[in-house]
Amino acid sequence: MSYVNEILERLAAQNPGQPEFLQAVTEVLESLQVVIEKNEDAYRKNAFLERLVTPERIIMFRVPWVDDKGQVQVNNGYRVQFNSAIGPYKGGLRFHPSVNQGILKFLGFEQTFKNSLTGLPIGGGKGGADFDPKGKSDREVMAFCQSFMTELYKYIGENEDVPAGDIGVGGREIGYLYGQYKRLTGQYEGVLTGKGLSFGGSLARTQATGYGLLYLTDELLRCNGKELKGKTVAVSGAGNVATYAIEKAWQLGAKPVTCSDSTGWIYDPDGIDVATLIDVKQVKRARLTEYAKARPNSVYHEGKGVWTTRCDVALPCATQNELLLDDAKALVANGCFAVCEGANMPTSLDATKYLQSQGVLFCPGKASNAGGVATSALEMTQNSQRLSWTFEEVDAKLKDIMVNIFHNVDNAAREYGMEGNYVAGANIAGFLKVADAMNAQGIV
Ligand code: GLU
Repeated sequence: MSYVNEILERLAAQNPGQPEFLQAVTEVLESLQVVIEKNEDAYRKNAFLERLVTPERIIMFRVPWVDDKGQVQVNNGYRVQFNSAIGPYKGGLRFHPSVNQGILKFLGFEQTFKNSLTGLPIGGGKGGADFDPKGKSDREVMAFCQSFMTELYKYIGENEDVPAGDIGVGGREIGYLYGQYKRLTGQYEGVLTGKGLSFGGSLARTQATGYGLLYLTDELLRCNGKELKGKTVAVSGAGNVATYAIEKAWQLGAKPVTCSDSTGWIYDPDGIDVATLIDVKQVKRARLTEYAKARPNSVYHEGKGVWTTRCDVALPCATQNELLLDDAKALVANGCFAVCEGANMPTSLDATKYLQSQGVLFCPGKASNAGGVATSALEMTQNSQRLSWTFEEVDAKLKDIMVNIFHNVDNAAREYGMEGNYVAGANIAGFLKVADAMNAQGIV
């Protein structure tokens, strides 16, 4: 049995009940087969893959807090410090009821490769809690964040581990977390990214994941003899990634026609209005039914179905496994020719393979959504320099980074005889840098 298959079998036996983690590792190791088999004995002797797929450390803790009725609530908090070969652990915090160790291991594993692809010195980590900020008062969110940080602060630091936002963790939560970190440690340091502009945040960080997704998509289409201009784009999600993907799609001459949340989705024949979306989701923190009320031409559909829209380009920006095989078939049947992931692992493995087999240009999230964490690394740089760059400076750097990521991924795929397979290209390019650093640092 090949070393890769041995590891996949062993991992499945060791991690029952963690399907997302197994899915993420399977996708990566299948791509790495061509690299590993060139030097299989050496990798096996060094237990290289065992070390690659095992987090350096997982911290799990109790998060007690008091709700507005005076009732004590308890959530599970985590930080998965996956791989620090190329820099301090870096990755977001997710507050969502679905959060568990398996989900955070998948996200931390993905983050390691994504961060490597940015070309910046950041290792991989992820954390969060099974806390649902939805429907909570600001005071409840603050109480939760303060309790969460009261445990987490022991394990993080600007040179050690630098968390940021993810699903359920935006500017409000980062502010409360930062305030508590500073209160506990007395340190005013770049320990979190995605901070407010008045306390060390970077301009363009809020927009970065969505903007970066579109910069990469634009380059991918251009290099395949197509263009984004004039194309119809289906977007899922209505959070930070989706909102700024929609904004940048408009700016690049495309027409984004959909968005979605956990209860339903919107089709807007006039194109999604960014100001309305921001008002509904960020200001009112309401459901998309409010968008439909404000935009009478748009249609609200209850439940799933965003991928049944006719589109040229699809950008899944909601969450993991939101684009399944049937969705992929519907997209292809409707003429979609490119799918670029804005979320982490939104496309299931069989859907990815189907899209690739149909000649759809497919870019995995670890490449196409890397703009967020890349700009977090730029925030870290500004914090270290005690300087703030202009929006234009950060945005220009982000664009360069995304274009470079695409070409590194494209070149790696070609070099290993898999031209156009950006999944393989991203996994191989991300891996090579991490592997080089791990090998150089010995058995640690
Ligand atoms: N949560 C984002 C991601 O999945 C950003 C992480 C960060 O900025 O550290 O990459």
